[in-house]
Order: sequence, then C-alpha cells, then structure tokens
Amino acid sequence: MVTILDATKPGASASDAPKAEAKRVRHPEKQKRPDTEVKRKPEWIRVRAPTSKGYHETREIVKTNNLVTVCEEAGCPNIGECWDKKHATFMIMGEICTRACAFCNVITGMPNPLDPQEPENVARAVREMGLNHVVITSVDRDDLPDGGAEHFEQVIWAVREASPQTTIEILTPDFLRKPDALERVVAARPDVFNHNLETVPGNYLTVRPGARYFHSLRLLQRVKELDPTMFTKSGIMMGLGEERNEVLQLMDDLRTADVDFITIGQYLQPTRKHHEVIRFVPPEEFKSFEKIAYTKGFLMVSSSPLTRSSHHAGDDFARLKVNREAKQANSASQS
Ligand code: SF4
Repeated sequence: MVTILDATKPGASASDAPKAEAKRVRHPEKQKRPDTEVKRKPEWIRVRAPTSKGYHETREIVKTNNLVTVCEEAGCPNIGECWDKKHATFMIMGEICTRACAFCNVITGMPNPLDPQEPENVARAVREMGLNHVVITSVDRDDLPDGGAEHFEQVIWAVREASPQTTIEILTPDFLRKPDALERVVAARPDVFNHNLETVPGNYLTVRPGARYFHSLRLLQRVKELDPTMFTKSGIMMGLGEERNEVLQLMDDLRTADVDFITIGQYLQPTRKHHEVIRFVPPEEFKSFEKIAYTKGFLMVSSSPLTRSSHHAGDDFARLKVNREAKQANSASQS
C-alpha cells in the first residue's frame, strides 16, 4: 500500500515519522473494505522499471510545471515506455477526487481550489514536450457547480494557443447532475472526446458506485449529437468479474451511441484495499474481443492486456482519421 507522511502535524518529531507513516494511508475511505490479496502478475503483464533519459526528461518537465499526471497517480505500467517518448497524460483540477471508485488509485476527498495557472502550465508543458497529440484528463469535481467544465475549456484554449498544431484528446468525468457542462466542453472543440464506461453495468454498484452506466452512455451519445464530426472514445477494464456476453452487450451499447473507438485493457489492483483482480485475461482473449469489436463497426479498437485509454493515443488518433476517411469513401462509392 502507498502511504504518505503527515509531516505538518503540530508537535511531530522525526522519531514520530514511521508511526505517522503507518497511520496516514492514501485511501482512508477504503480502510473498511476487506483486504484482498494482490495477485502476482502473469508474464504477459510485466514491464521493466523506467530508467531511460527520455523518462527523466519528461519527469523534469512535469515537475517544473507543477503538473499532475495520471501516469503517476494511477501507477500506470506503461510509464517507462510512454515517458521515454515524452507522452504523458495530464490530470487537471488537482490530485484529489470526489468519487471513490473501487479500482482507482487516485486519492478521494475534498479537493483544493482550482489552480488558475494550470491552463498556462499545461500549455507550456505541451509546447516544451513538442507533443503532436495531448491527452488531458481530470479528477471528478462534483464539488464544483459546473463539474470543472469551464476549467477544461480554459485548458483546451490555452493548449491551442500555445501549440496550434497539437491535437487535443480529453478524457472527462461524467459531469453527473451538472447542467450544460458537457455542452460547454464540446463547444471548446477537442479533437477526441473520451469518457470511459470502465466496466459492464452489472458491476457499477461495486466498482463505480458514484456513477450511472446509462448516464455515461448517454453522455457519449450526446457528444456525437452536438458535434457529429468529433471522434468519441470509451474504454473498459477486464478482470473485474465481467462475463463475456456482458462485454459484447456493452460494445453494442457503445455502437448504439455511435462511439468510434473502444479501448479494452487488463485491470490491475493498486492495493489490498482495492477491488480484487478476478482474473488475468490472456492476450488471445483480448485479440478475440478486438476482432468482434471491429465487426460491430468501431472505427478503431485497441484491446490488449496493457491497453490504457491514453496508450499510443497519438498514433491511434492518426489511424482513426484514416479509418473514417476510408469508411466515408467506401459509403460514397456504394451510393
Ligand atoms: S498509457 Fe497513458 S497513463 Fe499510462 S503512462 Fe502512457 S500516457 Fe500515461
């Protein structure tokens, strides 16, 4: 389990440090959950510890611009590979989330006020890293009247101004009970709108208790209604106890909402207090989901144990555009 040290406590001395560290846990809201053993990862999941020069350069840019990344907060296994190529996914609006999803390693609690410098800082980092494509996500901000929609909008504008050639992908919360928030973010015209369903509807109460499956689905559908040219994307994790036919139904639901791109990856358990990995899905099964998803009409499918929403997002965006053009040319030739 990851712990953080409460060094600000009045009267604390150096000798208190180990005790304080033992007491202060990253996920206090999950302490009543039963411990479940973190299963040993199979061969096909293991990755090397990050050490490259590119990794350290990315780390420096993230630190000096005072930014938070989901790569670090979620303990993403791809961080060595992505950061070496200077691909990082920025997590805006702080590092404290108002939801407490059972799979997520981000801290739950009352978030800090928004940082007005953040749009500029993200934009500067995008320029310094020379990104062709950037992925920007956020914590859930149920505490804000607009769920953080205005802040998303400001970050998109700042990036576009600082680096006009960079394409922008956003991975948003569900803006549940925040009227007009979605409309505002879509109006800022990101190139890709991603919102993850995360898991099949039958798992929502245990895995994503603060969210509603049909609200998330409707949000994706609404993005397409508001701007039919905007690419939409959604992802799920395998290994949370879902049945195969539930995954196939979820794919149909996403296609009904006209979603272009589905990502399917293996869930990894951050600590003993998080949802357990029910099983590690073998690579062949991911391949079979990929084939089925293409037959259901997705323009792009990324399905593998290490697939994450933002993994290879730039290359995938380029393929997404090519695939749409090919599909449009094909329909035109048949009409
Ligand atoms: S896959 Fe996404 S979250 Fe993971 S390291 Fe790469 S950019 Fe970061």
